Amino acid sequence: MADKTPAAHIVIVGGGFAGLGCARTLAKARGVRVTLIDRHNYHQFQPLLYQVASAELGTGDVATSLRQTLRGQANVDVKMTEVTAADPKTLTVTTRDGASYQGDYLVLAAGSQANFFNTPGAEQHAFPLYSLEEAQRLRSRVLAVFEDADRDPSLLDKGALNFVIVGGGATGTELAGALADMINLTMTREYTDLAVTRAQVILVEHGAALLAPFSPRAHDYAARALQRKGVRLRLGQAVTEVAADHVKLSDGTSIPTRTVVWAAGLMAAALAGNAGLPRGRGGRIEVQPDLTVEGFPRVYALGDFANVPGADGAALPQLGSVAQQCGVWTAKNILAEIAGKPRTAFHYHDKGIMAMIGRDAAVAEIGRKRHELDGPIAFAAWIGVHAMLMTGVRERIEAFVAWAWDYFSRTRQVQVLDRSNANRIDWGEHEEGT
Ligand SMILES: Cc1cc2nc3c(=O)[nH]c(=O)nc-3n(C[C@H](O)[C@H](O)[C@H](O)COP(=O)(O)OP(=O)(O)OC[C@H]3O[C@@H](n4cnc5c(N)ncnc54)[C@H](O)[C@@H]3O)c2cc1C
Repeated sequence: MADKTPAAHIVIVGGGFAGLGCARTLAKARGVRVTLIDRHNYHQFQPLLYQVASAELGTGDVATSLRQTLRGQANVDVKMTEVTAADPKTLTVTTRDGASYQGDYLVLAAGSQANFFNTPGAEQHAFPLYSLEEAQRLRSRVLAVFEDADRDPSLLDKGALNFVIVGGGATGTELAGALADMINLTMTREYTDLAVTRAQVILVEHGAALLAPFSPRAHDYAARALQRKGVRLRLGQAVTEVAADHVKLSDGTSIPTRTVVWAAGLMAAALAGNAGLPRGRGGRIEVQPDLTVEGFPRVYALGDFANVPGADGAALPQLGSVAQQCGVWTAKNILAEIAGKPRTAFHYHDKGIMAMIGRDAAVAEIGRKRHELDGPIAFAAWIGVHAMLMTGVRERIEAFVAWAWDYFSRTRQVQVLDRSNANRIDWGEHEEGT
């Protein structure tokens, strides 16, 4: 006899690593139906956004249609809309267009956004790098300053080709390497009428070392690799002000620039402030070891949106692998509960961490024992791992082709400047000062 029990409805907010991991696992299950809501119609592969910003990859290489990814999964419905509030008591979310979705379970996986730490001018003038739009905007700015300086070399004195990156974590370090390679290997050959050698990539890091979560050997390797590429490191310095035409550092230095990239910190996406749930460090939702929120056994928060406790009780880092595993675990806990079994505490399987520092340079620490690699072997490992992590086969193949093309031809495939979204740069007078 057919089972007449209505399917449990699971509402997932966010189609990132966490939300999609959850939806894909539930898509294979009986007795559940899923509504996956995202403000975009695509899943974005954040670890490669810096390659979009540095014109190595196109947007289609790092974004996959959610509908295409979930095609054929009859129990999953995708809605493209922005969730503005969540009510954990009624298990309902409301959207900007006034609709509401009520579930039997709520899975909140809305990710993160830049944290400017109230630095004056940063929100108005700096370029964050946490979404596809932000990566495209930054790419347009990088290309625009080259074009403007090519027409008017006096702009070099106004810091047109000074690229200041704030934050020496993985995002800032990877971007610094990629921009330096773009300048040294591509722009020098294509802007024959411009003193490209005056371009500078300046990486500002508050702490004493780059890539803080890595080993001291990796800290040194990353610093040396970037310095070999001409990147100027300003370690132990904080950015105290960002203006339209310069940035100020804590030692009083002022650097003229039109391109300040903010890679200095994350906080939970704005929805966290409108979900009626307890929040902790970074404004993230506090969750229990089984990923539910205390007092709300049918509300889960995961990935970058939550402080997910690790084995020692401390919050796990904001990583794609943590988010993806949280998503799968949440789906399994929901299915267990529906089957009358207990939920279990999330266990993170740590496969290691890696960062690319431009052409031929990378660091990797593999497995829980952190087996250390660097140089071309780590570079090859980085390419293999990231290609395999990408959601679609087409994206993998296209990324491989783009990487190989860039590597051998020393060109950038996606050097297309869309002037309409690049916002004209106002090159008014800059007062030099230190
Ligand atoms: C530049 C960069 C490089 C990185 N490199 C690495 C790396 O090398 N390795 C690694 O493991 N991790 C890396 N990370 C971290 C990793 O990408 C994140 O930890 C991971 O994306 C978190 O997944 P998530 O699903 O929690 O959030 P996200 O991937 O951010 O997904 C959140 C989703 O929620 C949607 N959303 C947000 N708010 C709303 C709303 N109100 N309504 C509807 N939808 C909403 C967003 O559109 C998005 O699709 C990197 C991150 C960045 C930014």
